[in-house]
Amino acid sequence: MADTMTQRNIALLAATSTIALASLAYTLLPRARERSRTHSFSLPSWESKIDYEKVYRSDEEMMKLAIHCSRANVVEGTGGPFGSAIFERISPGHAKLVSIGCNRVVPENNSLLHGETVAIQVAQSKLQCFSLREKGNFELFTSCEPCCMCLGATLWSGVSRIVCAATKADASKIGFDEGPVFDASYKHLEGCGIEVVKGLLTEEGAEVLNMYGEKGVIYNR
Ligand SMILES: [Zn+2]
Repeated sequence: MADTMTQRNIALLAATSTIALASLAYTLLPRARERSRTHSFSLPSWESKIDYEKVYRSDEEMMKLAIHCSRANVVEGTGGPFGSAIFERISPGHAKLVSIGCNRVVPENNSLLHGETVAIQVAQSKLQCFSLREKGNFELFTSCEPCCMCLGATLWSGVSRIVCAATKADASKIGFDEGPVFDASYKHLEGCGIEVVKGLLTEEGAEVLNMYGEKGVIYNR
C-alpha cells in the first residue's frame, strides 16, 4: 500500500513539474510563442554584410543600395531581380537605413515577397508599428517601378516618398507582369501625400533585370 502511495506521489509530482515548466517556458518565451502562430520569411545571408550605421547623403547613394540588393539577389541566387531599401529621413542631406528588401518569391514559395513588401515588413517589424508614419519620415527606394501589389503596399506602409530606378517597361521586357498599374495609381498616391520620383539610375536598375532575364525564373508572366 505504502509503495503504491509513493508511486502515485512521484507520478503526481512529475506531472505537476512538467506543467509548471511548460507554463514557465510559455511565459518567458513570448517571441517563440509569436513564431508558433505566424508565418515568417528569411532574408538571404548576404544581408548581414550591409552597413546599417552608414549616413546616406543623397538619393543616388540610397538608390545604389536598392540596386545592390537586386544585384546581390541575382548573383547569389537568392531570388528575383528586385531590391528595395527604406530610409528614415533625418534632414535634407541625412538619411539612415532602416531595412532592405529583396524578392524572395521563388525560394520562399510566397507570391507576396517582393522587394518592396519585404522591406516594408522588416521596417514595420523593427519599429513595431503598422504604419511608418507613426514613427517619423520614411522613404522607399526600389530598383524597379512597383507592381500593383507593391504600389498598394506603399500606400498603406506610411512612407512619405517612393523613388524608382528601372521602369515597368524594363520589367515587362524580360517577361514580368506588373499587373494593373496606371498613371492614375501614382496620382492617387500623390493625392495621399506620397511624393513619387521615377527615373533615378534607371539604366543600372534595368541592367540587373536584363542579367536575370537571361536565365532566371519568371514567375508571373
Ligand atoms: Zn511587387
